[in-house]
Amino acid sequence: MIAESLKQELSRIATLPVQWNYPLAPLTSFGIGGPADAVISIENKTELAELLSFFAENHLQYRFIGKGTNLLVADKGFNGVVLLFGTALSSIRVVEELERGALQVQVGGGCSLAKLLSWCLENKCTGLEFVSGIPGSLGGAVIMNAGAWGGEIADVITGVTVYSKSCGEEYLDRSELDFGYRQWKNKKNKKNEERLVLSADIVLSRGDENSIANTCREYLKKRKEKQPKGVKNAGSFFKNPPEDSAGRLIEAAGLKEKRFGDAMVSPVHANFLVNMGAATAADVKLLMEFVVKKVKKESGIELQAEVHFL
Ligand SMILES: Cc1cc2nc3c(=O)[nH]c(=O)nc-3n(C[C@H](O)[C@H](O)[C@H](O)COP(=O)(O)OP(=O)(O)OC[C@H]3O[C@@H](n4cnc5c(N)ncnc54)[C@H](O)[C@@H]3O)c2cc1C
Repeated sequence: MIAESLKQELSRIATLPVQWNYPLAPLTSFGIGGPADAVISIENKTELAELLSFFAENHLQYRFIGKGTNLLVADKGFNGVVLLFGTALSSIRVVEELERGALQVQVGGGCSLAKLLSWCLENKCTGLEFVSGIPGSLGGAVIMNAGAWGGEIADVITGVTVYSKSCGEEYLDRSELDFGYRQWKNKKNKKNEERLVLSADIVLSRGDENSIANTCREYLKKRKEKQPKGVKNAGSFFKNPPEDSAGRLIEAAGLKEKRFGDAMVSPVHANFLVNMGAATAADVKLLMEFVVKKVKKESGIELQAEVHFL
């Protein structure tokens, strides 16, 4: 709980009204989780700097959330402040036209991948078709090194602008960025503080509008065929082990439709743990642990969660 005296100060710093004791479930694609003490949409960098100093001085916990599509929030919620991106930190800007039809673009961390892809289509830019149907934000995609169909966000990034309490705003060039499979290894600074992805610089190429649109349509069609529909989830729950697929291993262990409460292994795609309506984080955790144990017993492989926890 945040003390009343701190609440007043927090309201003064925040540009937009602070949402107190705010439910996090609707801010996630899983639709699961209790409230945060406070939720704030950040509108500008000055406000962000003031907030992070305030949190440090008053020992308040905080966490950034993008579109909440890769996140499982605890049933008891979050004892601290959740920071979201306001519209001002979600813009798309052409920085430079490069040689041979290439284009340097700066994208705000809060920009949704869907908005970015629409922009690519309008501006006939190719390079990001693989994000079709990935429902997150650009900031979240950097943190996760989101990818599909053999592409990943690291392929197009040339630099990232981040913010953290001790280092302030920093520009990290591609040569300093260490991406792995579904992870960005520099997500914390040297003082172990989370870095907020303010924006990313990406390089795209001018391409043929029809061919870009056709590729996006093809990827969306494949997704519709392979992924569960009409149930809340957080995408692939586990990372694929090297040279194998988590979905194949879970299915081979006979776990499709395994259920704890309202959390179930999808019958459509076994790497999707789905919320059948009123699943709790405790249900998902039980199911996750059961899946990990059974797959380990059957195959000797220990699955690692791709989903992040709050
Ligand atoms: C139906 C469905 C399909 C999916 N398909 C795919 C897929 O094909 N490939 C794939 O890779 N993923 C997929 N995902 C997962 C998810 O969409 C991606 O990982 C996405 O990049 C997460 O972005 P987000 O904004 O939702 O992140 P969130 O879930 O909000 O956050 C994820 C993590 O990043 C942190 N974070 C978020 N934004 C920032 C920021 N700006 N700065 C610092 N930290 C931040 C959060 O604290 C958290 O730890 C899918 C999800 C769903 C629901």
